[in-house]
Amino acid sequence: MAEKVVIIGSGPAGWTAAIYAARANLEPLVYEGAIIEENRLQGTLPLGQLALTTEVENYPGFPSGKSREFLKSALPEERQPYWVQDNKEQPSHGVNGPELMELMRQQAVNFGTRIVTDDIVKVDFSRQPFVLTAREGQTVEALAVIVATGARANYLGLPSEDKYKNNGVSACAVCDGALPRFRNKPVIVIGGGDSAVEEATYLSKFASTVHLVHRRDRLRASKIMQQRALENPKIKIQWNRGLDEVLGTDKDGVTGVRLKSTVDKQTETLDATGVFLAIGHTPNTKFLAGQLQLDDKGYIVWTKPARTWTSVEGVFAAGDVADSYYRQAVTAAGTGCMSALDAERWLAEHGHL
Ligand code: NAP
Repeated sequence: MAEKVVIIGSGPAGWTAAIYAARANLEPLVYEGAIIEENRLQGTLPLGQLALTTEVENYPGFPSGKSREFLKSALPEERQPYWVQDNKEQPSHGVNGPELMELMRQQAVNFGTRIVTDDIVKVDFSRQPFVLTAREGQTVEALAVIVATGARANYLGLPSEDKYKNNGVSACAVCDGALPRFRNKPVIVIGGGDSAVEEATYLSKFASTVHLVHRRDRLRASKIMQQRALENPKIKIQWNRGLDEVLGTDKDGVTGVRLKSTVDKQTETLDATGVFLAIGHTPNTKFLAGQLQLDDKGYIVWTKPARTWTSVEGVFAAGDVADSYYRQAVTAAGTGCMSALDAERWLAEHGHL
């Protein structure tokens, strides 16, 4: 028998959709992604991008405090963060990314969500019920589908960049910028678009200097953002340069960078405690090949304003996979909620409920 609704993806959009769908008795089935090396390397393991971050200070409802007892009581033992079990003094914090995702996942489970730890690698939206194929070849039929597979930050692919991820290398200044290691220290931002300028501007509140490294002699960012960067005394633009190597030690993480001129290939080193990549994101939509309308960057197109509808009736999209603009946990959760409500209404209108 076909599932009423299958949710693909396990970030804030996917779990919020599952919580709403489960509470509406839609008995959602979530494909949370496979735990495999390929997904680890490209940042698409279960629980999404937030699982790759540290503190989350801007998700409403989690002010700084001591959360050990709450996490202990809310999560089954095997899914608790390791530190919940040890007896060390607990740092006072709100919530970190992995904890937030575990809590959302558990909330969905508590209302009866079923979970498969696998990827959907192929879809057939040309027939109803829709047919989804998992990595191992199993198929599942679904009356409605919510795609919430998110996006992944682009990295340059340098081994040194990979080595210092979470130890000075980040692709999210808003997530990590306020950490003590970046305070009053020079940091590097790579990129020349709006995100790079936004990240540089944000980081300038904490860092002593922000070196904005761009491969050309002109920023891609909008005029107003360019002006913001040029007028900020803490932002130094390093024109016509690329990141050649992240420098660091096992003990201290990132300590600097080697930059290479894109004009004459000359290299130079700069001290820095952080390297922030802002060279764009890639939506996780490859498996949709030709089945849904995507924009020129591969993001799913929402076909009606203020709805999560896609180009195929009965298929809905939520979170970063359809949003290249806001890309926040709370906005993803918001559209996740909308997608479940949209799916429920669509199922009811088509006589499936
Ligand atoms: P983007 O506009 O695609 O810019 C990516 C930047 O990274 C470009 O400057 C590009 O250089 C550089 N880049 C790409 N690949 C690179 C590589 N391999 N090595 C070195 N540099 C590389 O992406 P975005 O800045 O994330 O913005 C995405 C969208 O969100 C845009 O539409 C943007 O307007 C919007 N956005 C808006 C705001 C805002 O208004 N506040 C904030 C953030 C994002 P080139 O310029 O040489 O191609």
